[in-house]
Amino acid sequence: MAQRIKIIYTPEGGSRRDWIVDLQNPSWDLTYATEKATDWPWGEFTERLGNQSAIATRALLWVLRKRDEPRLTLEAVVPDWDELDFEAECPRCGEWVVDDGHACAPTEAPETDEPAEASPGEA
Ligand SMILES: [Zn+2]
Repeated sequence: MAQRIKIIYTPEGGSRRDWIVDLQNPSWDLTYATEKATDWPWGEFTERLGNQSAIATRALLWVLRKRDEPRLTLEAVVPDWDELDFEAECPRCGEWVVDDGHACAPTEAPETDEPAEASPGEA
């Protein structure tokens, strides 16, 4: 799994919000509140998140939304998969991609064994 993921939440009739979560270096509120909500320490939590655990996903969305909605309760968060999109930062090219295994756009000429600029033989 990528180190940084972006959670995009677009509730029906609401406006789009997104958050970036650094899985390797999470903020305190994320680790604390998700563990309190699920009993899973962060390592296990992210593993379950990677397996599309609905409980982990809901807890994550709750903690992120709570930053703007301090009184929001976990029970009030009932997301639909349609409302959620996930993107991951490709560790190779830095693009935000839906699929970790995407084919990176080549940033430089592909390596080749051919000698560069083989000069034409001299007459
Ligand atoms: Zn890439």
